[in-house]
Amino acid sequence: MAETTVRFRIKRQDNGAAAARWEDFVLPYRSGMNVISALMAIQRNPTTTDGVKTTPPVWEASCLEEVCGSCTMLVNGQARQACTALIDNLEQPISLEPMTKFPLVRDLIVNRTKMFDNLKKVKAWVPVDGTYDLGPGPRISQEKQEEMYPLSRCMTCGVCLEVCPQFGPQSDFMGAQIINAVRLFNAHPTGALNADERLEAITGAGGIQDCGNAQNCVRSCPKDIPLTASIAEVNRQATKYMFKRMLRR
Ligand code: SF4
Repeated sequence: MAETTVRFRIKRQDNGAAAARWEDFVLPYRSGMNVISALMAIQRNPTTTDGVKTTPPVWEASCLEEVCGSCTMLVNGQARQACTALIDNLEQPISLEPMTKFPLVRDLIVNRTKMFDNLKKVKAWVPVDGTYDLGPGPRISQEKQEEMYPLSRCMTCGVCLEVCPQFGPQSDFMGAQIINAVRLFNAHPTGALNADERLEAITGAGGIQDCGNAQNCVRSCPKDIPLTASIAEVNRQATKYMFKRMLRR
C-alpha cells in the first residue's frame, strides 16, 4: 500500500556548544515531496510525533536546483543536497543531520567559511582588471573547454570534504574541492599567469601532500567532477613546480 505519511528524525542543536537531541515528526505524504518541502511543512507546524510543540528546525537553502550547495546535510547518513533528495527514494524514518566536519551554527546549518577561505588561499579566480578595456579574452579551444567544464561544476557544497578522512577540525588539509579549483584556474590561459602562486599555496600547509588517496571524494561528488584526475594532475604540476623552485635557489 502506498505511504500516506512521511516520518522524519531531525537532529536538533541550538549551537555548537549546546547538547544535541533528536526530534521525530510525521506529516502527510504528498506526491513529489523533497526534503526541503517536508522541512517547510514541519516549520509551519513544529509539533513532534508525541504532540510536543517545539521550535521550527532551521536549515540553509537557496537555489533549490542543486547548483548552490547550501542545503547540503546528512540525509539518512549520506552527505547530499536536501533539494534533490526525493521522499519517494528514501527509506523512512528519514534522518536529517548537519554535516560533521564544519562548525555547527544551529540544527542543520554549518559554517562552511573554511572552504571559501581556502579558495582565497589558492587564488581560485581569473584576475581581471576592470579599470580599462582588456579587449577580447584569449580563445580557448573546444578541447580545452571540454576538459575545463566538468571541473567548473563545483558548487562548494562540502560533500567531498565531509567524506574525506583527512579533512576536519584535526587538520589543515584543504581537500579535493580546492585541488580541483587549482587545476581549473591553472588550465585557463589567463588564470595560468598565477599558476605558480596557486602551486605555492597547494604545496604549503594543508596542501596536496596531505591527501591520503582514500578516493571517497570522487565517489561522492554530486557533480561527478573527476576529482582523482584533478589530484593526479595537480600533483604532477606541483612536482614540476617544486623542482623549478629548488633550481631557482
Ligand atoms: S568537488 Fe563536488 S563534492 Fe566537492 S565541493 Fe565541489 S561539488 Fe561538492
